[in-house]
Amino acid sequence: MSDRTPLMAGNWKMNLDWKQSLALVEDLGGQLKGKDLGGVEAAVLPPFVNIRTVQTAVDAGKLPIAYGGQDLSAHESGAYTGEVSGPMLTALGCTYVAVGHSERREYHGETEQVTNAKVNAALAAGLTPILCVGEGLDERKAGKQVEYTLAQVEGGLEGLTAEQVGGLVIAYEPVWAIGTGEVATPDDAQEVCAAVRDWVRTAHGDQAADAVRVLYGGSVKSSNVAELMERPDVDGALVGGASLKAEEFAKIVGYRAA
Ligand code: PEP
Repeated sequence: MSDRTPLMAGNWKMNLDWKQSLALVEDLGGQLKGKDLGGVEAAVLPPFVNIRTVQTAVDAGKLPIAYGGQDLSAHESGAYTGEVSGPMLTALGCTYVAVGHSERREYHGETEQVTNAKVNAALAAGLTPILCVGEGLDERKAGKQVEYTLAQVEGGLEGLTAEQVGGLVIAYEPVWAIGTGEVATPDDAQEVCAAVRDWVRTAHGDQAADAVRVLYGGSVKSSNVAELMERPDVDGALVGGASLKAEEFAKIVGYRAA
């Protein structure tokens, strides 16, 4: 087992209004609080408008749940209608922010340059970026999953120092496994997560490679999380659908206790 703290991060996507978010975080917190989670860290990424609600519930209940945004602006402030900045998230007590999720890349045309700018904006605001990378079905069928994913890693992390890279979270999310019910095999996940860590080792050295947390994401559930987590380079999971049910997500976070 590595020294890295496993992270289970729930991406709520564009689901739940503020009342539903409150109910979910309180339910989840109630299930996690006081339990021995074996050192596993839990985080949720609510829609922007529900972060304040989650903050209030976490603070009031002293819930063992970190939280963050699903995206952020590449800019710090100013005339960028509709955007939310890193400092705004920091002021709400956020720890994490997802950057370059495949749905941002696909539906909002986010390029490698935009993703890199957002990673930098997150770091400048004191947030931990969760950089999302991963191949589509075509690249997987062509056996190009490693080179495709590493190109995204390289683009997203351009210009970062070894220290910054070591503090990051990188989520390997094969697009064909997101929301489809089709989970990658543990070997598939390990192959690419190990390649990501090897890339970090070559580019930024042992310390960064040993510290960076590499998550797997794509149809993770309580029934498959433990075998994914057995792989040495899988340090946690980014969870979509299964994070919307308190009991199911609590089981994922508590996989070591199960
Ligand atoms: C995701 O959106 O990051 C994700 C992994 O979704 P799901 O778990 O629903 O496949």
